Amino acid sequence: MLFAIISDVHANLDALHAVLDEIKKHKPDAVWFLGDVVGYGPEPDECVEVLKKEAQIILAGNHDRAVAGLTDIEYFNPYAKSAIEWTIENMKDENKVFLKSLPVIRYLKDEDIYPVRKKPPLDFSNGVYLVHSSPKEPEQWHYILNTWDAYINFHFFSERVCFVGHSHHPFIAELTAEDKVFFYKDYAEIKEGCRYIVNAGSVGQPRDGNPLAAYALLGRNSIEIKRVSYDIVSTQNKMRDAGLPSYLINRLSRGL
Ligand code: ZN
Repeated sequence: MLFAIISDVHANLDALHAVLDEIKKHKPDAVWFLGDVVGYGPEPDECVEVLKKEAQIILAGNHDRAVAGLTDIEYFNPYAKSAIEWTIENMKDENKVFLKSLPVIRYLKDEDIYPVRKKPPLDFSNGVYLVHSSPKEPEQWHYILNTWDAYINFHFFSERVCFVGHSHHPFIAELTAEDKVFFYKDYAEIKEGCRYIVNAGSVGQPRDGNPLAAYALLGRNSIEIKRVSYDIVSTQNKMRDAGLPSYLINRLSRGL
C-alpha cells in the first residue's frame, strides 16, 4: 500500500513532470493532489491537463479559487495577484470551469483508500482527510506553521492522518496519546495511538530554503517527504517569456 500526495504545483510543468516521473517509480495505488495547480508559473493549462490524467483526487487551493472567480483577488500580495491576473488572461475557459468545479476538502473512508482490498492493512480510524489549507477553516486559507497551529488543527478532524499544503513548507506533525505534538522533517513511522498532520510541501514553488520539488508518500506504516530536482532554468525562461514578475522567477532558484 502506497499513496503519493502532491500539492502547490503552481503551473510549474517541469517540476510536475519530474515529480510524477519519480512517483511512478514507486508504483503508488493513487496520487492525491491538494490544490493550487495554477498561479505563479507559466503553464497552467498544461498542469491542469496532466493532473486530470495522473491524479485520482484533485482539490482546489486559494489560487485555483481566485482564477475561477470564487475568491477575491485583493486578498493576495501584489506578485501573487499579478500572476493570478496573468493566469485568468491566458488560461483556457474550459480549464477555468474545471477549477471552479473542484472541492476544497475530501474525506477518504477506509473503503475509498483500499478499494481493491477486503481488509485494510492498517487501521486509519475513519480514513484520511485531505485539505489545501487547514482543517479548522478550510476556506479561510490559514497556514499551519508551528506546534500550536498543528495542535489546534488536530481538534478539527477525526481521521488518523490529515494532509495539507498551502504554506509550501513540508513537515510531519505527530499528536501523541499524551496530547503532545512533535514535528518531523521528512520521515515518521505511523505509531499506535498517534495522529498526524502532514504538509506535502510544494511541487512548483518550494519555500523552505530547498529549491527541489517536494511530495509525500504514505506507506503502510510510514510517512515520508521526498525531494526531486527539476530544470529550474527552463521554468524561469518560460516565466520570463510570459512576462511574469521577476521576484517570482528568482525565488525558484533559492526555494524561498
Ligand atoms: Zn500555494
